Amino acid sequence: MIIKKRTVLIFSTFLAIIIAFITLFSALSNLTQESFSSDFFKVVIDAGHGGVDGGVSGVKTGVKESDLNLILAKELASFLNEEGIKTVLTRSTKAGLYGTATSNRKRKDMLKRKEIILDSAPNLVISLHMNYYSVSDRRGAQAFFDEKNENSKKVALAVQSALNDLPTNERKYSALKGDYYILNSTNYPAVLIECGFLSNPQDEELLISREYREIFCQAVLNGISIYRINDDI
Ligand SMILES: [Zn+2]
Repeated sequence: MIIKKRTVLIFSTFLAIIIAFITLFSALSNLTQESFSSDFFKVVIDAGHGGVDGGVSGVKTGVKESDLNLILAKELASFLNEEGIKTVLTRSTKAGLYGTATSNRKRKDMLKRKEIILDSAPNLVISLHMNYYSVSDRRGAQAFFDEKNENSKKVALAVQSALNDLPTNERKYSALKGDYYILNSTNYPAVLIECGFLSNPQDEELLISREYREIFCQAVLNGISIYRINDDI
């Protein structure tokens, strides 16, 4: 009888140890997967323009595109970081990326952006801009891709499908090919987003509000998720 009790005790202890090991192993494996996915996906966020190049200006408030791109780039970076996505900003101040150059500023600025992308070896590049059109009722966010880069096209299609859910996009856009240096100067998957029209007062009003920019960041994240699911990355 005593032996039987002891056997039961040994068996239960053995079982408890096995269960503890299984629990520990599965916890460790989840942890590894999590750190793997966050280490794995890196996005370069490029705030268009900067310094002497202010880009376009808001028709209502005169807000400079370069400033708005920067605010949005920083907010998007925090937003993606919270989702475990690593981010690198091409610029984090109002200054351009041409250093102290007084000539060929645009070229030097763009070369620096390219260098940052190459150094970062990202999974994705997102360049943020604001649009402007002579007809003020044109609204909405549009994604552009490098037609020679299949992955750039895939990202732009995914991002555009998410942008079309935004309140600014009553008119649904298709992703468009665009000949932009930031897209075609490297082979990384890259999308340029014209986030809205600063020539349209309603778009401008939304884009200068933090609440709307959060909705916008969520749409970009949704687009990234669609791309990652489609491409299994
Ligand atoms: Zn621009």
